[in-house]
Amino acid sequence: VQRTLVLVKPDGVRRNLVGEVLRRIEAKGYSLVALQLRTADRELLAGHYAEHEGKPFYEPLVEFMSSGPVVAAVVEGQRVIEGFRALAGTTDPTTAAPGTIRGDLARDWGLRVQQNLVHGSDSEESAAREIGLWFPGLG
Ligand code: ATP
Repeated sequence: VQRTLVLVKPDGVRRNLVGEVLRRIEAKGYSLVALQLRTADRELLAGHYAEHEGKPFYEPLVEFMSSGPVVAAVVEGQRVIEGFRALAGTTDPTTAAPGTIRGDLARDWGLRVQQNLVHGSDSEESAAREIGLWFPGLG
């Protein structure tokens, strides 16, 4: 079975939406295999967002992501990587489909970063890399 790394970003924790996000994951039938609440430092985020380094939204993104605690979860299930991304909806919360986490619960606040509540790994390679960063010691 597949594993993915899910983050409830600082906007989700601040808005008390952790339970709502985890509820949707569990209701879909996926399982939590690891869970933590923590404030990420820049080093962890530099690893996590290495592919975006140099892009215009990179600095505001790291700033936002280190602005408060996030919930990191390892979630397991058949095809969970694409399954969670379908649950999350598209990156831009304004146009994310209703019924998705972003579509139902997030919007544009006019800031320099899309505050879109959640992250989910986009491939098996990213998932393995991200799980290693957030949960060193987990296979
Ligand atoms: P995630 O990887 O967090 O699930 P994603 O795969 O939909 O989101 P990425 O392209 O990996 O999006 O971008 C990572 C994050 O950077 C986005 O979730 C969003 O918070 C922010 N971001 C991406 N593109 C932009 C942009 N053009 N303007 C502002 N913020 C952005």
